[in-house]
Amino acid sequence: MSDVFFIPFDPAAGTAGLSQAAVRLLRTLLERSGDALLPADVPLKVHFGEKGNRTFLKPEVYDGIIDFIQAQGRACHFAETSVLYGGERFSREKHLALAKKHGFTRIPIVIADGARGEESVSVPVNLKHFKSASIAKALAEADRVVVLSHFKGHGLAGFGGAIKQLSMGFAAKGGKMAMHLNVKPRIRNWKCKRCKLCLTRCNESAITIGDRSFIDHDKCIGCGACFSICPHHAVSILSFAGLKHALFGGRLFREKLVEYAYASHRGKHHLYITFAVNVTRGCDCEPRPMMTCVHDIGVFASLDPVAVDAACWDAAAKAGKKFKGAEQLAYAEKIGLGTRKYNLIRLD
Ligand code: SF4
Ligand code: SF4
Repeated sequence: MSDVFFIPFDPAAGTAGLSQAAVRLLRTLLERSGDALLPADVPLKVHFGEKGNRTFLKPEVYDGIIDFIQAQGRACHFAETSVLYGGERFSREKHLALAKKHGFTRIPIVIADGARGEESVSVPVNLKHFKSASIAKALAEADRVVVLSHFKGHGLAGFGGAIKQLSMGFAAKGGKMAMHLNVKPRIRNWKCKRCKLCLTRCNESAITIGDRSFIDHDKCIGCGACFSICPHHAVSILSFAGLKHALFGGRLFREKLVEYAYASHRGKHHLYITFAVNVTRGCDCEPRPMMTCVHDIGVFASLDPVAVDAACWDAAAKAGKKFKGAEQLAYAEKIGLGTRKYNLIRLD
């Protein structure tokens, strides 16, 4: 059983309230960890939000944590990795420009996998899908990261929280590719409107749009960008070839995510703080405005990434949105990443 600390969302306090809740939770985690020492330059793992997304966590949410760390005489920086697919977060240069546009200007930013995803460390795991995981160098080398996650849905993972932040968020490009490889999408021609939006996101030139639109699976790396961006739901991750892929493709992807999270977490002293506000069905990687699907819940924190995800998942279900992807939690528990059993401690 792991402790998960929780501070409910206070509508009257808004963003400032979230910021203060995060500080209180960080202090609590430091006390509970038995090692309150922060590194000289603390990485704050965040997500800057894709261009066009409106529901990612805004930089002001982290102000309290930055103030707290600086008051300890320590420095801190935002840490992120670039994505596998095209768009505004593909390279360090573009990613930094987007982060700046989204207001992440208060502290330095480190794109942990280098200019184009070339800086990685191979971390041995010896699990079912991976013998080793390709983790972004600057994050792999950090002993203590404050992992700041936004709880919300995700097309392939079901939901995204601390586990997804640790896996896809910590992985170098090669690692992201390895996690996606089992799922290669197809275009449903009867739904395709030939808008060609997907072409703008496919870095592999794998898509042909025409009388018969299709994806060349020899070129496709399974990054899922076309699936995420298609406004007409014409890109399917379900295989026409058989029920097996339909039933197990998502599950394999989720298991791979969890194995990467294991690589990022094992032997480290990371601190997990997750915001269950602005909860949408889709991910912050999606370049479009989205409606929230439950009310703002609050901020959760734990030393156990599985427990904090389980608590968020349960809270969202209680609020009316039962996300898919609970296999993430079961598999994470099975391989020893953490436990689904948690003791929820409310701090008021
Ligand atoms: S984005 Fe969707 S609808 Fe538009 S061309 Fe691509 S598959 Fe077809
Ligand atoms: S076709 Fe394949 S490589 Fe291209 S965007 Fe879609 S999933 Fe990614």
